Amino acid sequence: MAVNNVVCGAGIAGLTAGIDLATRGRNVTILEKENVVGGHASSHRLPNGFVHDMGLHVIIPDAVPLYEMVKAAGIESSLIRFDMQFGFLKDGQVNAFSPNPLSMTKFRLLGLRDKIRFGKLMMGINSISEGEFSNATAAEFVTDKISRKALESFFEPLLTRLSAVPPEALSATFFIDFLKLLGQVRNFKSCIPKTGIGELAEGLASHLESVGAALEPAQK
Ligand SMILES: Cc1cc2nc3c(=O)[nH]c(=O)nc-3n(C[C@H](O)[C@H](O)[C@H](O)COP(=O)(O)OP(=O)(O)OC[C@H]3O[C@@H](n4cnc5c(N)ncnc54)[C@H](O)[C@@H]3O)c2cc1C
Repeated sequence: MAVNNVVCGAGIAGLTAGIDLATRGRNVTILEKENVVGGHASSHRLPNGFVHDMGLHVIIPDAVPLYEMVKAAGIESSLIRFDMQFGFLKDGQVNAFSPNPLSMTKFRLLGLRDKIRFGKLMMGINSISEGEFSNATAAEFVTDKISRKALESFFEPLLTRLSAVPPEALSATFFIDFLKLLGQVRNFKSCIPKTGIGELAEGLASHLESVGAALEPAQK
């Protein structure tokens, strides 16, 4: 007896489940309620070149089954590999960020003076007490510790996306905690598609047809 399989949602889980089932010979239909695939693994591509990923940002080397599927879908060549702690994707390039002075000199999203001030801030971030800045906003903290220009060109889009509120409405303590986290992550080797994580979901969705699975809109 033929068994029809319905997968609810074309996020990364639904897409990979659909491909897996179809490659095992099952008859699969994925239903997606939104106009885009990917769910939390979709991207907003902004006119100024920045790519903001909704959730999932990077594929870590441990994600072997996903990585195998990426290879099978033929989208491996679109992956940028990066061997660092954090990266900011702009204009198709990953801008490596690591809180050590050598790495900071190569960071292209800030001017030289701002890089030095940001590097110094990161070097001493663990000795900063949040209580000292409990009445300050993140915007005031960045302006004071780095510069107004750095706030407008780099930190404002970053913080607004991270927290969903502009840095003027965000507490400095949130930002200090974020910087402390940034400084703690070590040896984070990973990869990301050139135009954001959405490309991964779109590539997997394109691969559905070749494995015989269907993607259809779900009624809202
Ligand atoms: C800020 C943030 C950062 C993250 N960073 C990383 C990271 O760097 N690396 C990492 O590996 N993971 C990361 N994650 C986790 C990762 O994003 C999620 O685990 C993953 O994307 C979840 O995929 P999913 O397919 O399970 O669910 P979702 O992405 O939520 O997909 C669910 C899909 O189902 C659809 N849907 C829902 N209800 C229905 C319905 N009734 N009918 C039809 N369709 C429906 C939705 O529209 C959506 O497309 C992050 C998450 C967040 C929030």
